[in-house]
Amino acid sequence: MKIAVLKETEDGELRVAATPETAKKFIALGATVAVEAGAGLSASIADEDYAAVGASVGPREQIVAGADILLGVQGPDPASVQGAASGAFVAAALDPFRRRERVDAYAAAGLEALAMEFMPRITRAQSMDILSSQSNLSGYKAVLDAASEYGRAFPMMMTAAGTISAARVFIMGVGVAGLQAIATARRLGAIVSATDVRAATREQIESLGAKAVFVENVQGIEGEGSGGYATEMSDEYKAAQAELVSSHIARQDVVITTALIPGRPAPRLISDAQLATMRPGSVVVDLAVEQGGNVEGAVAGAVVERHGVRIVGHRNVPSRLAADASALYARNLYNFLSAFWDKDAGKIVLPDDDEIVKGVRLTQGGKVVNERLLG
Ligand code: NAD
Repeated sequence: MKIAVLKETEDGELRVAATPETAKKFIALGATVAVEAGAGLSASIADEDYAAVGASVGPREQIVAGADILLGVQGPDPASVQGAASGAFVAAALDPFRRRERVDAYAAAGLEALAMEFMPRITRAQSMDILSSQSNLSGYKAVLDAASEYGRAFPMMMTAAGTISAARVFIMGVGVAGLQAIATARRLGAIVSATDVRAATREQIESLGAKAVFVENVQGIEGEGSGGYATEMSDEYKAAQAELVSSHIARQDVVITTALIPGRPAPRLISDAQLATMRPGSVVVDLAVEQGGNVEGAVAGAVVERHGVRIVGHRNVPSRLAADASALYARNLYNFLSAFWDKDAGKIVLPDDDEIVKGVRLTQGGKVVNERLLG
């Protein structure tokens, strides 16, 4: 079984889908691993590091030829992987809702597309979950990005020249990224508060030493919601949330927004009028900027200023920590594929009735088969 590790082609994508560690593990399973030349460079991995564990390194055409599995961070252009074995797996973050035409093209090319971001939220799949591993790093980096844009310090400092007060940091959306953002801001000494629509997050916020700020008297999402995800909220809830945000953010120095709804544009959480109530010099980081943005005026790929407030809208935040993000992403891919390694057949076999397979498989036998795309 030949596994090809593709060099990423999207602008600003610095991660790589396999590391020497995971290449070595695939080889130990009995696979051969072929890495596209230069694939790891932007994540601080040299071609020689892959060669040292027994992988071959070469140009795309050569590594793709006859490959049974193509590994990417983002999905490759189907035309660029011609020559792979018929029915080859393409495992990557395929952005299926927004790149539907490419999913169709994978089907037409006879490739079996596996969307890693569709991994079900079940205990067995936790170690395979790229959204968790990458969001965790994004939450951390968002706080560092905010700190570097902020013209003041985060912790309270008592110095001979006087006291500096601690920064007030508000985290909106307490999923994986939000929880890590709370923990990181706390480590830097900020006074942290946080909010979410899911009631279950209240306890998590408080257990990290932050203050929970919640919409009261309007039904939010009790328990965990489907697969732990949020849904679009009622108009009544949105109005109550807007009021709550207005009164809270005027007193905050830094706001980090992370709210997402799978398959839908990100919810708008902060309006331009609300931004205008913040102190000049405040910083807002919108981690949802590429999904439509939580913050009015946020621009994907830029830091902009409105009413004296800096709005940070970096794209592809995990790529800003490319080495660690690659290491975790690569392990997610290895954990997923190796779980389906069939020793007797000497290859990966994905059973049709497995919950994980049903979750991630987009195309099979020339057709789109995933429920979330068909439904
Ligand atoms: P996400 O990235 O989809 O969204 C980020 C957060 O934004 C969520 O907490 C969501 O509730 C919140 N949000 C959505 N709309 C909002 C609004 N209008 N206002 C405020 N907040 C809003 O979420 P995520 O990081 O993927 O995590 C979602 C849940 O899934 C978490 O509880 C997480 O622990 C759980 N999870 C479980 C597994 C597993 O069991 N394998 C893996 C990963 C995550």
